[in-house]
Amino acid sequence: MTTRFSTGRYKASGHPNAYEAVNEMFDSAADRLNMDPQLRSILKTPFREVTVAVPVRMDSGKIHVYAGFRVQHNGARGPWKGGIRYHPQVDLDEVRALASLMTWKTALLDVPFGGAKGGVSCDPMNMSMTELERLTRKFTARIALVLGPQRDVPAPDLGTDGQVMAWMMDEYSSRRGYTPAIVTGKPVTLGGSLGRKAATGRGVVTIADSYYTAMGQSLKGKTCAVQGFGNVGSFTAQFWAERGGKVVAITDVKGGVYNAKGLDVPALSKFFDEKRTIAGFPGAEPMNNQDLFSLPVDCLIPAALGDVITPDNCVHIKAPLVIEGANHPTMPEADEDLHERGVVVIPDILANAGGVTVSYFEWTQNLTQFYWDEEKVNRELDVKMRRAFMDVHELARKEKCSYRTAAFMQAIKRVGEAETQRGN
Ligand code: NAD
Repeated sequence: MTTRFSTGRYKASGHPNAYEAVNEMFDSAADRLNMDPQLRSILKTPFREVTVAVPVRMDSGKIHVYAGFRVQHNGARGPWKGGIRYHPQVDLDEVRALASLMTWKTALLDVPFGGAKGGVSCDPMNMSMTELERLTRKFTARIALVLGPQRDVPAPDLGTDGQVMAWMMDEYSSRRGYTPAIVTGKPVTLGGSLGRKAATGRGVVTIADSYYTAMGQSLKGKTCAVQGFGNVGSFTAQFWAERGGKVVAITDVKGGVYNAKGLDVPALSKFFDEKRTIAGFPGAEPMNNQDLFSLPVDCLIPAALGDVITPDNCVHIKAPLVIEGANHPTMPEADEDLHERGVVVIPDILANAGGVTVSYFEWTQNLTQFYWDEEKVNRELDVKMRRAFMDVHELARKEKCSYRTAAFMQAIKRVGEAETQRGN
């Protein structure tokens, strides 16, 4: 099928894969910076890519061999940093793209890390806890050579959580001695930071608040629709409502809910804790993903999967503001369309950077063995997020470009300087 987006610039499907999409964003910012071609190719190329086989004995007694990946993209500004994703669609291209995004995200927030990402192609929703533990331990053992508190520090992502980080920490520590700084996003009892669990959602709402403040408006009374009710989506909804906004719709993998008057988010969370889905929540109408994207809300927040805002559905988006809670939720052609239509998109590398920022605080606390109270964590997070927003906002105004291009420009400039200063 030919669409107005079929430009022939992508190899396979006519649409970019995740890695091509991130490189396209990089190139458009690097063009504006007039970046030297040699530095450009250094910055675009991942430093190291590790692929491992992960054989796991399943509860049935049979062995299943999973594919595991860790990509270290750029480490010029500090140890590699990035989450571990468990999802059936994990592949090397996606992990590369996400690793690259981490390089730009850590630079944009000015936390002293490089960018990495890892993942295992598996379906955690259909695995038992014992299978997940065996998978995590085997995967950790097989990538342990390239990890380390001063080398590469994983964190949770889609399909992984504090428990998975606890197993990774234990597996690594059983070889090298007690090493809490090997992962972030751990349970607080094992050296995790207060405030880390909520940090990404808190950051998303801080960015929304910063945006409305910069526009001379307020978040109070603003409506939003959120895709995803996992770590990012649930805390985003909670903080949006706590700041006086109205969350009118949320979807997850099993369904969704809508209430024009605003959903009761604490009651929804309670319902989710019991049912493991939000579908069927009383006091709300059913909602699907397609309709969620076309709701006439003030702000649309994708907080689940990548590539969900496509050339096909972007034309139906009525929200004037999109805040990317998920990583790369917007395909480049859709991004162009939204920009042309005047829809403001606040990019993932800024909007969802609260998680890695508090991961930095956690790593710092682990290295010093001196722990902060939650108020200090949230205060420092607020300062870093608002500063990064203003950097991007001012650059976007100066360059007359999108927030995404401005965010990439700022980040690429910082990494480029570090790379050049370190020399070859
Ligand atoms: P999670 O596993 O906790 O939650 C994922 C949510 O997405 C769940 O509610 C799930 O039901 C929903 N979902 C899955 N498939 C869906 C579908 N087809 N339609 C609608 N909903 C669907 O994951 P998370 O940690 O909240 O991460 C979500 C996104 O945010 C990912 O893109 C991740 O890379 C990104 N992110 C996470 C963090 C973090 O700190 N956890 C930080 C930065 C970015």
